[in-house]
Amino acid sequence: MADKHKDFKLPETDSGTIVFNTDPLIIKYHYEIDYIHSYAEDTPFFVGLSQGKMMGSRCTKCNYGFATPRSHCMECGAPTTWEQLPNQGRVHTYTTCYFGGEAFLNETPFTLILVEFAGFDTLFLSRIVGVDFEKVKIGMPVKAQYLRNSKFKPTDVYFVPMQDDEPAPHTPYSN
Ligand SMILES: [Zn+2]
Repeated sequence: MADKHKDFKLPETDSGTIVFNTDPLIIKYHYEIDYIHSYAEDTPFFVGLSQGKMMGSRCTKCNYGFATPRSHCMECGAPTTWEQLPNQGRVHTYTTCYFGGEAFLNETPFTLILVEFAGFDTLFLSRIVGVDFEKVKIGMPVKAQYLRNSKFKPTDVYFVPMQDDEPAPHTPYSN
């Protein structure tokens, strides 16, 4: 019986590979992925940013107010509920960055602030714009601005100084 597999060969194409180096062998290899990301319990915070509001959280037992998403209270461990943060706060502290991650490198120097809000016990990290960084001061009243086209990232919100004719919020700094 004849061996029908005797001279079998896989068909070949004449497409090639880009070689950068042979020892060690380094080639061009295309790689791409769409990552399906779930925000899970943090969803209301990021959806809120797209609607021009910041959502904090408050303990259902001890009433501790968090200026960030937090499913359970770090003071007593009880569950929290969502609560909208005021759109105005004050600069609790700040730092000016002369170096940053690749996404922000061409925007240096920029100034990060920790914002305090009336009725909330923790701070919110964000960025202040629209003011020379030498003029940023602790206690400065600031208000939130939102990207019109939300990216569903924490950087969808940033802060600008409040104008002199706007009523400044009462926060722990001013009380
Ligand atoms: Zn609590």
